[in-house]
Amino acid sequence: KVTNVVKQEGGRHEVRLASGETFTTTLLIGADGAWSKVRPLLSDAQPIYLGVSLVETYLLDADVRHPESAALVGRGSMFALSDEKGLITHRDGDGRITVYIALKTSEQWVTSSGIDFRATEAARQQLLNHFPDWDDQLRALIAANDTELIPRSIYALPVGHHWERIPGVTLLGDAAHLMSPFAGEGANLAMLYGAELAEALLAHPNDVETALASYEETSFPRSEAKAAEANSNLSVSFRSDAPQGMLDLMAQYAHQEG
Ligand SMILES: Cc1cc2nc3c(=O)[nH]c(=O)nc-3n(C[C@H](O)[C@H](O)[C@H](O)COP(=O)(O)OP(=O)(O)OC[C@H]3O[C@@H](n4cnc5c(N)ncnc54)[C@H](O)[C@@H]3O)c2cc1C
Repeated sequence: KVTNVVKQEGGRHEVRLASGETFTTTLLIGADGAWSKVRPLLSDAQPIYLGVSLVETYLLDADVRHPESAALVGRGSMFALSDEKGLITHRDGDGRITVYIALKTSEQWVTSSGIDFRATEAARQQLLNHFPDWDDQLRALIAANDTELIPRSIYALPVGHHWERIPGVTLLGDAAHLMSPFAGEGANLAMLYGAELAEALLAHPNDVETALASYEETSFPRSEAKAAEANSNLSVSFRSDAPQGMLDLMAQYAHQEG
């Protein structure tokens, strides 16, 4: 595990590991997620809490074990949004349904709510208490659930996060463009940028700086657009008139495809 990274002369960086080992590199790619240890070399930006916390859980083998929920969710994603809360689901390739129980709440909620997420039975009941008057089919997404509960507070870097070129180092994935999952693009962008960075390095085998500059020039505007979309989608999802904003968005997508 990387504990610290120190800039040296000539675009080199020394990487220090928790084991006590160190190594020096001429190309450092910080792909170490939201709380990147590499990012401070390039930028002072810090992730900001977006006012929403999720609890992630799963309905396994949903068609067989949870047919009513499976029928409700359908083949893709489902958003049930109201009262600054949400039950958001998507189908996974292995037959499970991922369920996100979403609340507009404080940054400290995960620890201050008093919910012990490891005591899943009691925690599930406490989460149901946030949805007392929701339809039983929706409450079943929490109640009928039989797996772990994983709390996730939602953070993002500022929209348009970028940095000046500093020799020998760049960022990739959430380290570069952490955004809320409400555009569904964080992992997609990370994979795309991994491929594009590799292509840029192959195209400029003897000139790392040109490769990094070209990678960043393409990725910055694309990340900015997706981060803005993610913020906007999160905002409409928890607005007081929800689900109207999401309905408008879906109508817009349908019109574009139409
Ligand atoms: C609830 C939720 C739902 C999401 N849904 C979607 C979706 O539908 N579609 C989508 O495209 N994206 C989605 N995302 C976003 C997606 O999960 C991230 O954008 C993606 O995981 C980013 O990949 P990454 O490799 O940059 O970072 P990470 O997945 O965070 O990986 C970083 C890696 O670096 C390692 N690391 C961290 N610190 C150190 C260190 N100091 N030393 C060594 N190693 C370190 C970590 O162990 C980890 O392996 C979602 C995110 C959340 C929270």
